[in-house]
Amino acid sequence: MPEATENVTPKYDPEELGFDPDALREKYRAERDKRLRPDGNDQYLEVNGEFAHLVDDPYVAPGFTREPLHDEVEVVVIGAGFGGLLAGARLHEAGVRDIRLIERGGDVGGTWYWNRYPGAQCDIESYIYLPLLEEVGYIPKEKYSFAPEILAHASAIAEKYDLYDGACFQTEVTAMEWDEASSRWIISTNRGDRMKARFVCMANGPLNRPKLPGIAGIETFKGHTFHTSRWDYDYTGGSSSGDLTGLTDKRIGIIGTGATAVQCVPYLGQYAKQLYVFQRTPSSIDVRGNKPTDSEWVAGLEPGWHQHRMENFNTLVSGGIADEDLVRDGWTDIIRNLLLIVRNEDEPDLSPEALGQKMEVADFQKMEQIRARANELVDDPQTADALKPWYRQFCKRPCFHDDYLPTFNLPNVELIDTHGKGVDRVTETGIVVGDTEYEIDCLILATGFEVGTDYTRRAGYDIVGRGGVRLSEKWADGMRTLHGMHGHGFPNCFIMSPAQAGFTANFPHLLNEQSTHIAYIVKTCAESNYRVVEATQDAEDEWVETISRLNRRARKFLESCTPGYYNNEGKPGERNGQNAPFGGGSMAFFALLKEWRAEGNMNGLETQ
Ligand code: NDP
Repeated sequence: MPEATENVTPKYDPEELGFDPDALREKYRAERDKRLRPDGNDQYLEVNGEFAHLVDDPYVAPGFTREPLHDEVEVVVIGAGFGGLLAGARLHEAGVRDIRLIERGGDVGGTWYWNRYPGAQCDIESYIYLPLLEEVGYIPKEKYSFAPEILAHASAIAEKYDLYDGACFQTEVTAMEWDEASSRWIISTNRGDRMKARFVCMANGPLNRPKLPGIAGIETFKGHTFHTSRWDYDYTGGSSSGDLTGLTDKRIGIIGTGATAVQCVPYLGQYAKQLYVFQRTPSSIDVRGNKPTDSEWVAGLEPGWHQHRMENFNTLVSGGIADEDLVRDGWTDIIRNLLLIVRNEDEPDLSPEALGQKMEVADFQKMEQIRARANELVDDPQTADALKPWYRQFCKRPCFHDDYLPTFNLPNVELIDTHGKGVDRVTETGIVVGDTEYEIDCLILATGFEVGTDYTRRAGYDIVGRGGVRLSEKWADGMRTLHGMHGHGFPNCFIMSPAQAGFTANFPHLLNEQSTHIAYIVKTCAESNYRVVEATQDAEDEWVETISRLNRRARKFLESCTPGYYNNEGKPGERNGQNAPFGGGSMAFFALLKEWRAEGNMNGLETQ
């Protein structure tokens, strides 16, 4: 993560650069301040009570029932997204066969099961984002896969590793309790199950719980409403590839302009009679440049190419140096620019401050390009201006799209910029911003997912470990783990989450490394006849201290950013530093896990 640069006299000539770094820094600060609000994360509503129907599964037939299970399995994996599937696959490779997936949705896929909105697409290159490509023997059709292809790949993984066998779909875990007498976890679900498992992998997903904006009057709206992660094709018509013919006589309002909205707005604009896009903070929209897979390139791939490509990308986007850039897209382009400046200036012994300044200038340059792109692609100068992001590139998830900005040239599409404030009110018939009420038939919430809330709230169940201690209690003052994965007092339980682990833009890469690690530990337990494996208190304490210490470095940068889920809605200081990812970067984290396995002594874990 880049460092923030405060009040540094620029060594660069504004005329040469074409912009004044001081003025830009001040503009960024002013734009951030416009968006800051005292309620931070509390501005969002939990999706329950009168809003609970917004998270019903629209993709299954109603009325599913089955007999409750009161049996025992070797490993229960909670969540059947890429995390659960990778855990299942790596455990299968390690010789474990008795694996049960438990999943709230009606099938595997996780994020890609739920997010079927029109235009849903992977924003990381598919050749590195889709896991287990060599194992499954699949090459994606395009550089950036659309959602149906990714969902089909999730299913292919489940087929290949027999993970459909015994899987429990449409099933939510309601409680999980360690039974000392049998050294097993007892897992209860909303289907009346009470099953036992020796090991549990919790692959609940980091962005699994939709969140609602706490806008006054939102409960009074009488028109149709849905969240983008539960797209209502009965209402809109069509499918994820478009043809939304149900909207041709409808006035649509969409709240949110993050990565999801950027992908579905072009489809809404194409079909809706009228589309209002309510914006609080614009996203940065760089070139997408999707293209079909080159068969010649595929023919030349050598075994091991997939891991190599994932590592190459991850090295570059983590600020590391690699001889070549295999992915060569907007993600690596940003980093290439930053590194080029540093390398070209022939100053090998740069101080961290000097490096920080150069990175900031490279970031300004990149964002100037992004802002110029809005001018190029949007006809109306006022709308183009409103679509320009004024913050550093990695303050928010960067977006890449070739049709989003031109959508605002359509006569039926209007950008309603709220200047960082969000919409004022929702009425029975529309949305109010300032003095204007925009009448709509349908309100689409592209407002994202809970990030800063408690782990157990997002999981939907608490975990009761040794001595009746609840995970929510143990983590009340911040997360406590070894490697983000094991908790003292919570034996035989693996957590798959980016917190206290290696954050990367290519999330399946982390899940793959965690799965390999989990499979190694489970296999070692089987080979050595260990019934129980658990982090020692000392190892856990040491890891928490490491996480907190390294996190302090990122804090200054996050404070300079516009609010969002990356910086705890503008209050990075109020998020417990313990809940951060490993600050040494994901590549260092993966190397650390690999070295730990190579040592072969389960350092920091106690076994029985
Ligand atoms: P985000 O959290 O990124 O965006 C939510 C949007 O809702 C923001 O624009 C936010 O504005 C806006 N918002 C919230 N409350 C209000 C309000 N009261 N008034 C007006 N606007 C409001 O959610 P997304 O679903 O877009 O994306 C979530 C994440 O999912 C991404 O960051 C990315 O990691 C992932 N994703 C990945 C994709 C992929 O291809 N791999 C595709 C899509 C998503 P503000 O910015 O001001 O907070």
